[in-house]
This record gives sequence, C-alpha cells and structure tokens, in this order.
Amino acid sequence: MTPYDILDQPISGLRFGEGLPAPAPLLDGHRRRIDYVRVSVTDRCDLRCTYCMPERMQFLPRAEVLSLEELDRLCTLLVAMGMTKLRLTGGEPLVRRGFISLVDSLSRHLRSGALHELTLTTNGTRLAEVADDLARCGVGRVNVSLDTLDPATYRRLTRGGDLARVMAGLDAAQAAGLKVKINAVALKADNLADIPAMVAWAHGRGLELTLIETMPLGAMEEDRTDQYVPLGQVRDTLAAIWTLTPDAHVTGGPARYVRVAETGGRVGFITPLSHSFCDTCNRVRVTCTGTLHTCLGQDDATDLRGLLRAYPNDDAPAREAVLGALATKPKSHDFVIARGSAPAVARHMSTTGG
Ligand code: SAM
Ligand code: SF4
Repeated sequence: MTPYDILDQPISGLRFGEGLPAPAPLLDGHRRRIDYVRVSVTDRCDLRCTYCMPERMQFLPRAEVLSLEELDRLCTLLVAMGMTKLRLTGGEPLVRRGFISLVDSLSRHLRSGALHELTLTTNGTRLAEVADDLARCGVGRVNVSLDTLDPATYRRLTRGGDLARVMAGLDAAQAAGLKVKINAVALKADNLADIPAMVAWAHGRGLELTLIETMPLGAMEEDRTDQYVPLGQVRDTLAAIWTLTPDAHVTGGPARYVRVAETGGRVGFITPLSHSFCDTCNRVRVTCTGTLHTCLGQDDATDLRGLLRAYPNDDAPAREAVLGALATKPKSHDFVIARGSAPAVARHMSTTGG
C-alpha cells in the first residue's frame, strides 16, 4: 500500500476544528476584510489548456504536495481564523485521489456554521461521477471552466479533452441540484466569435456565465498578447445583440455583472488587465504545497507547509505566519500584457490555484 492509498481512506473521523468559536473579522494591512480562501489540492490536471500550462508540464514531486490530512488541518485553521468562503481548486481538484473524503471532512465546518460556502472550480471532465457526493456534502455550487461549445476547438484548446464528458458533468451537477457557473476565458483566436452563442446556451439552461481576461501567469509556449481581448470589447459585442443592464449582484469578488433582458440571465466580467479590482479584494490563495499567496499577481509567498510539519500538534506558528502575510498583502497586482513582456509572476495558474 502506498501513502496515497492510505490517503484515499475516508478521513471524516478527524476531529480538529470542531466547535470553532466565531472569530473576529480578518483584516489585511489595507483594512480590507479577508474572508475568502482558495486552496489548490493538486497541481496535476487531466487537461493541458493552452493558456494555462505548457504541453509538457513539470508536475511537483508528491512529497511536496500537502497530504489530505494537512489540507484539512490548514483549511480548518483558516476557517477558525475567519475565512467563511472556501473554494477548492487546482490543477484539477477532481483528479486528486481521496478528494471527496476531504470535502466530506470539511463539510463539518458548514454544519457548524463557521464556513458559509464550500465550492470548487473544476474542468468538469469528472463531474458526472461525483456530483451526487458533492451535493450530499453540502457543496451548493460549482464553477465549471468551459471556453467553447465546439468539440474540435475544445479538443485543441485543452490539448485532448472530450467536450461530451463536460456536458455529462453539467447534466449530472444540475440533476444533483448544484448551482453551476460557467467560467470562460476570452481568447481572440479561439472563442471570441462564439461568445454570444455561449451566453445564449448558458442562459438557456439556467447557468450564469463569467468571462475572464487571459492573465500573464507562468511561462507559456504561446505569446498571450496574441489571444488577449479586453472584455469591454466583448461587452460591446453583446450590447449590439441584446439589452444589457448593469446588475448590482456583488460577491465581494472581482467580477462585474450585467443582466441580459432577452435571456433573463447574468454575465460576469473579470477584467484584471483592463481594470484593477484590487480595492475590494477579499481573498488569498494557498497552493497545494501549502504556500500562501496573498495576491494572484505578485510574488509574495509564505510557507505554511514547513510550519505545519515542524509543529504537528500546534497551529499557532502557522496562524502567526498567516497574520503576518495578511499584514503585508500587496495593495494591488501589477499585471501588464504587452507584446513580448515576461509573465507578471513565474508560477502558472494551475500552481497558484484559479
Ligand atoms: N482545473 C480547474 C478548471 O479549469 O476549472 C481549476 C483550476 S484552473 C487553473 C482555474 C481557472 O483558471 C480556470 O477557469 C482557467 O480557465 C483559469 N485560467 C488558467 N490560466 C489562466 C490564465 N493565464 N489567465 C486567465 N485565466 C486562467
Ligand atoms: Fe487544467 Fe484547469 Fe489549467 Fe485547464 S485551466 S489545464 S483544466 S488546471
């Protein structure tokens, strides 16, 4: 039996974090309230989206990746410190063995009321197999990344993905009662012309759709300036077809929303490059190696894994490190996307956790 077979055993019996007292709000050094953490559970993925990772991605040695128990301990600590929203991501979270047992274990924080939302971001290829389990664990919502409805384009963009599996995943998720949001990266050459059709499709099946500008994260074979589209341009295209009204829907996140009168649905726009959303930033990220990044677009990093491993029975050192990192959370990213410019940060989105 390998360590990973052991990790595959259910861990719902773990007791740390039960009965958490309500913590004071967590503030960063700029007095922004930080209550949302995204935790990457693996850097591995069954796809190789062209804008996300190179075809021959070098994955981390397994010993560097947090065990399921360490992930549970870290998430529990962050919830105890005041994080009320937890999103599990990757890489592809559903390729992590034992993932559902982690979700099952973390769901105790939903039941205790300490955690208000437990969600995940997935490419959807394995969603059909786990949708019922996710719903049972109290995951109310999943974000599914899907950039095109054309099977051939999907195969090319993801370097080998099968769109039918994602569609089966969406059907299963909706049948299980999960709310589903589609995230699509706007790519000049690959999907720009098809975005109106994607909006109509998503709204037709009761799904919200959020568009994202491609971000300069990690070195890539392709030059991202070739694919970058400012979303203001996409919004103008949609406004020429439909009646758009700004929607006040506020998540504390970077998306701005419009309501489409004719479909009744909502479209979100995440525009890290053309507009800064840092003033209201409420989130931090933890990589699958236990590194805390308080800003997606800066190189600040705090190692929590070393502290968790050095103090197996004492969370205080990791807690202090989190507080120290929040005190110096950068005011804003400084993404630029200019032809030939280096990525803003060297790590890929799949490492940081999207
Ligand atoms: N594998 C899962 C998925 O695709 O949903 C979760 C991880 S993925 C890194 C999270 C999100 O990051 C996806 O929606 C993906 O489209 C987005 N993403 C990856 N690289 C990006 C980049 N360079 N710019 C903008 N979004 C990116
Ligand atoms: Fe994998 Fe998600 Fe990156 Fe695509 S975007 S390669 S699915 S981690």
